[in-house]
Amino acid sequence: MSGKVTLLGAGPGNIELLTLLGKRRLKQADVVLYDRLVNPSLLLLTSQQAQLINVGKMPHYHKYHQEDINNLLVKYAKMGYQVVRLKAGDPYVFGRGGEEAAYLKSQGIAFEVIPGLTSALAGLSAVGIPITQRGLASSFHVITGQRRDSEADLNWNNIAHQEGTLVFLMGMSNLANICHNLIINGKNPHTPVAIIQWATQWRQKMVISNLKEITTAAAQKGLSSPALIVIGEVVRMSQQLNVILPLQKQHILVPFSKHSILYQRLSDLGATVDFYPRQIKVKQKVKLPNLDKFAVVLIDSVIAFTDFSQLLLENNLDVRILARKQIWVRSNLVAQHLKQYGILVDKVITTDANINTAQILEISSDELHSDTLNFLSLEKPLTKMKKLLYDLQTFQAIVFPSRASLKDFIAVLDNSQLQQLQQLQAFVMGEQVANLAQEYDFREIINCPTNLARTIAIIERKLTNE
Ligand code: SAH
Repeated sequence: MSGKVTLLGAGPGNIELLTLLGKRRLKQADVVLYDRLVNPSLLLLTSQQAQLINVGKMPHYHKYHQEDINNLLVKYAKMGYQVVRLKAGDPYVFGRGGEEAAYLKSQGIAFEVIPGLTSALAGLSAVGIPITQRGLASSFHVITGQRRDSEADLNWNNIAHQEGTLVFLMGMSNLANICHNLIINGKNPHTPVAIIQWATQWRQKMVISNLKEITTAAAQKGLSSPALIVIGEVVRMSQQLNVILPLQKQHILVPFSKHSILYQRLSDLGATVDFYPRQIKVKQKVKLPNLDKFAVVLIDSVIAFTDFSQLLLENNLDVRILARKQIWVRSNLVAQHLKQYGILVDKVITTDANINTAQILEISSDELHSDTLNFLSLEKPLTKMKKLLYDLQTFQAIVFPSRASLKDFIAVLDNSQLQQLQQLQAFVMGEQVANLAQEYDFREIINCPTNLARTIAIIERKLTNE
């Protein structure tokens, strides 16, 4: 059976700007070929087995030629694979998507195109520039800022006289020329211009000036590719409509399996939050130990409690077996959860200092334990962790909500990545996590409570003060 190729638009960078259909295709993909500008976090949406190939073209060093990419697409489709060709923005906006589709068609390969949000639109809204506005612009024109020698030059006279907003893509190395050509063809040198780099991401930068002065202004502020050059009266609207959120410049990593509430809250405060899928775990078969031996049962997590209740039922027992025992937990969260089942805990323990006794049975859903304890681990990893695809140096902070998130994450890092990790500000939730973090030489560990709202407030205060 022959496979299919999906030319998929990844959107401008913020991973939540991917379409729902796009997300589904990434999940289904056997092979993903992705470009340099694509946010690598999107690749975490793929399945464990998917093969990921970076065909990104470096500005001066062409890793893969277009022909190589075309051939790979055909090769994998002929092997029966679901192939995703992941492209920045929209595949049919200066992405050579048309060429790829035409080649697939010529080779008789089934394909589809899933649109993405083009940077030519999304980049403007990200900084408060409406691309059309009554009285200011009733059209917009998206133009390439880069022509190859073999191509005829643009009709500058025509472009300079267009009513409406001009948006140049791939134009940064040609900025002075673009402005010059527009001015000599009659465009007012005082027309407002905005340059927007890395739109919709933590490293987004903007500079506003006019046609005559923008080249100098952009150089002074160090703006370079990838950026949009936006020319027209609508640029003025940014002053009024650009919404700046408190954590906008922050790039934060939350090593969590899915979009957690933590992810959502930090994103809503403007941060670019990348997640990292944790291992999927399954219950493992264990024998119920003789509970008479223990005076205390220490429950690590909500999942551990659920698994433990299940284990009791499988042995024709229920929680009454704990009647004369002390029940300890590792966080208030677990205490609250047990209360819903009518169980009051005796102690919330925050350090390991006094629990090394044979009297205690610790029940956990992960395999992290101190050797001196009687430890009952009820779950085991089902999947291998994914390789880390992003550069830890681009983050400012990392948040560890649990010991397992810290332990699992560190397990996938090589030495140099671990060193990079240690340079990040580490926000840790709860003293248990803080104790574990101490072992890894972080530059700065910021203790937060296990309470989510208070943790977010601490992160916001700390990151906005620096
Ligand atoms: N298909 C893409 C464009 C690919 S051409 C799309 O629809 O957006 C590459 C150019 O796109 C870059 O040189 C830059 O001009 C622009 N670009 C892409 N992503 C961008 C971003 N996040 N911020 C600013 N410009 C971006």
